[in-house]
Amino acid sequence: MTAQILDGRAIAAEVLSGLKVEVEGFQSRYPRRPFLLSVQVGLQPASDLFARSQMKAAAGLGIGYRLERLPAAIRQPELIRRIEEWNRDPEITGITIQFPLPAALDARSISAVVDPRKDVEGIHPQHIGQAVFGWSRIGTCTSLAIMELINATGADLYGKEAVIVGHSELIGKPVSLLLLDRFCTTTICHVATSERGRLSEHVRRAELLVVAVGKAHLVKGSWIRPGAIVIDVGTNLVDGGLKGDVEFDEAVKVASFITPVPGGVGPVVVATLMRNTVEAFKLQVGSDPGGSDPSQVSGP
Ligand code: NAP
Repeated sequence: MTAQILDGRAIAAEVLSGLKVEVEGFQSRYPRRPFLLSVQVGLQPASDLFARSQMKAAAGLGIGYRLERLPAAIRQPELIRRIEEWNRDPEITGITIQFPLPAALDARSISAVVDPRKDVEGIHPQHIGQAVFGWSRIGTCTSLAIMELINATGADLYGKEAVIVGHSELIGKPVSLLLLDRFCTTTICHVATSERGRLSEHVRRAELLVVAVGKAHLVKGSWIRPGAIVIDVGTNLVDGGLKGDVEFDEAVKVASFITPVPGGVGPVVVATLMRNTVEAFKLQVGSDPGGSDPSQVSGP
């Protein structure tokens, strides 16, 4: 079997074209428009690339956009003060903070300071908590992108063996909740699984495999179950090029669907960020017909 390649760029284009129609409709109804503030702390090659993609997508949709670059040495109280200012700024309707943050900053506390009405990254504890109840109106962008790619396969997830490698708060944990909501039998692997030498055993069982670790080719092609759906989230700079966490050249021979790196998850994450930005705007202007939705966010 040769896997079908899940083309993230095409899937993202579809999501964005739906959003474009929606955002155009806002112009005649509201005196303001969605405006996304992207915060980059310190310089990282990957986050520059990501910011450029965000800027392009926002411009294409008519969403306002500003990139705020802060020095890597910024102190936590100063960063918190800046976020509180942006929370109060009526022009800004969405805030995304690019992760990872420099080690001296406490990412959890920073995430909790962003007004949940403006948290379009979906990382505020309120949004993470709502995900447990299945109310993830604004979920974490990457977990929503992963679900978008899985949905594009058309696979029936009910009762499927899903294995997630990586248990980060941004990706592994939230996507495991979304897959549980779809009645997958879900296994989450992490560093201790690898340390006990059990990773390959779990991966071999996976009908649906999501890998989000950040270690190039950690998952070997020979471990992939024939016919599995493989979503490779990892982005690793190797010899000047991007490589995933899965050994693509071997995995593609046995999987039914697989995401390439680059061109798989990444573009869809930008699209889901834009979708979250539109959702947050709708909640703020009170335009949403789902006003009685229990996931409606309230102020901090
Ligand atoms: P993270 O916070 O560093 O989490 C990595 C996870 O992998 C942790 O749960 C870690 O477990 C686990 N892990 C580490 N070594 C392992 C091993 N040998 N075996 C099994 N699990 C292991 O990273 P993240 O934010 O989730 O991101 C993961 C990857 O996705 C990175 O490459 C990142 O660049 C990429 N990413 C891509 C996109 C995109 O748009 N394509 C978006 C976001 C992130 P412990 O915590 O127990 O060590």
